[in-house]
Amino acid sequence: MITFNVGPSKVYPEVRQYLLDAFDNQVLSISHRSKEFDVFSEKTLNLMHEKLNIPADYTILYTGSATESWEIIAQDIVQNHAIHFFNGEFGKKWFDYAKYIIPNTIGYVYDENKTINLNEYVISQDVDLLGFTLNETSTGTQVKSAIIDEAKSKFPNALIAIDTTSCIGGITIDFQKYDIIYGSVQKCFGLPAGLGLLILSPKAIKKAEQKNVKGRYNSLLSMLDQIKKFQTNYTPNVLNIYLLSRVLEKMDNISIIDAKIKKRAIDWYEFIPTLKGFHLHISNSEVQSDTIITVGSTEENIAKIKKEAKLAGIELGSGYGSLKNTTFRIANFPSITDVEIETLKTFLKKI
Ligand SMILES: *Cc1c(COP(=O)(O)O)cnc(C)c1O
Repeated sequence: MITFNVGPSKVYPEVRQYLLDAFDNQVLSISHRSKEFDVFSEKTLNLMHEKLNIPADYTILYTGSATESWEIIAQDIVQNHAIHFFNGEFGKKWFDYAKYIIPNTIGYVYDENKTINLNEYVISQDVDLLGFTLNETSTGTQVKSAIIDEAKSKFPNALIAIDTTSCIGGITIDFQKYDIIYGSVQKCFGLPAGLGLLILSPKAIKKAEQKNVKGRYNSLLSMLDQIKKFQTNYTPNVLNIYLLSRVLEKMDNISIIDAKIKKRAIDWYEFIPTLKGFHLHISNSEVQSDTIITVGSTEENIAKIKKEAKLAGIELGSGYGSLKNTTFRIANFPSITDVEIETLKTFLKKI
């Protein structure tokens, strides 16, 4: 079965060998306080910096998931209030989690087919953090970096936080523009689920130090303390950290992957409108996601195509939330091969 699921998604076939290596090299039973762990954890973090072009003064932390970052940010960083912009289910969930912890968190919903117009919203200068879902997995949209530039120049004191769960490892992220960047490995890294990444600028760390929250599960200050030794405050997903190091070792620099993913995205956005009975869910090319292509149709057509694809050995990504029955999604992730894409296109052309 070929899978175009958007998360968890196709793992690299090499992961099979990496798992065997992990077993044979006793990775599965080493202590997370041992020298052996420190060595490959340090290597993983260095490779993250190198392959994703993460600035040297940014700190990378391990988490359990992207969802966990939602809580860490609200609990340990935001002091007065945050403003979240969203057009889909993941951005909404992030906002809901944040609002539960800090009730005066503000959420602004914008049209999924439009770019964010910051002038439309009330944003006070004492806002601590502006949150964006850089790549909204449920709708298949992405936020242009020009919007972030504008937000930064208008609100220089605010931290810029972005959810990159379905694009980190797939497209270039200009980390310098952001203060808080998080995601997880089961999407563009082609790995199994169960490991998240939280990346912080010096400005974000300073803010956490000012707030000075301690004593919780994954208090950011304890995490920052432990990561100086390449460690975590709880027993982490040692296996997945090891697998990540292996995937990163083999991975091209993100600039090369970025070019490939963007070329494929252009091809998908040209191809889908040629299909009878289906359309691009996001028609505005300014906001179309490079890594998630969302295809719309009637409930009947969607149910039928998913079923027929399965019979042909292809798993399409289902729609999500309110779009569950009227869309399907195609993951445009690095682990998916050109041959697999051709197989899907051939199948789609026949319908
Ligand atoms: C998948 C996804 C999440 C949730 O990731 P977890 O690792 O399961 O917590 C959050 N945000 C976005 C945009 C996602 O695509």
